[in-house]
Amino acid sequence: MDTDLFVAWFEETARLVRRDRDRLTRLDAAIGDADHGTNLDRGLTEVRKALTEWPPESPVQVLTSAGTALIRRVGGASGPLYGSVFRQMGKALDSPVTLAGFSAAFDEGVVAVERLGKAAPGDKTMVDALAPASRALALAVRDGVGVREAFEQAARAAAEGARATIPMQARKGRASYLGERSIGHEDPGAASSALFMAALATVA
Ligand code: ADP
Ligand code: MG
Ligand code: MG
Repeated sequence: MDTDLFVAWFEETARLVRRDRDRLTRLDAAIGDADHGTNLDRGLTEVRKALTEWPPESPVQVLTSAGTALIRRVGGASGPLYGSVFRQMGKALDSPVTLAGFSAAFDEGVVAVERLGKAAPGDKTMVDALAPASRALALAVRDGVGVREAFEQAARAAAEGARATIPMQARKGRASYLGERSIGHEDPGAASSALFMAALATVA
């Protein structure tokens, strides 16, 4: 897995977030403050700009640059959380990048989000899409599945995880202020996490 693949991952994510910006914002309008789509679209525009202006020379540089841009430009709760996924993943990633190495580093990124957000699976956050995706990747590595199939399995797990947030009551973030009224809506951060994983499956 080379630098170009990591760049393509963020470019495809930027495309999907732009396409789904209004859907993400509508999800956030239901249980938050109606800015998740615009927040993330702004952040990923900054990521693309950073990757163009300072061409990265390694996968680690892509992750560090993208994570930093997300922290600087997304704002809200999700900016620092997404930023820490990719920065922590960059710290943990060995080169050359193998599927097993990717999986282990991604899991460290997910653990960093859980720690920073103090969120566990079932709290109705992005963790409910990211943690199943990480688990699916680890299982794919164990089973010796190819890269593309592994990322497709991770993308499916993330999409299912996002859908599974609908009946949950939020225990973290803005949506938790709604108590039981948060039930019945998909978590916007889980929905956008599913887009990150879908993008990975597309470019692999
Ligand atoms: P804000 O809520 O500040 O407006 P966004 O709308 O961009 O930020 O992002 C909201 C998303 O962030 C939520 O849908 C949820 O997935 C995620 N989130 C919020 N708080 C936490 C947390 N403590 N841990 C994990 N994820 C969180
Ligand atoms: Mg919001
Ligand atoms: Mg906000």
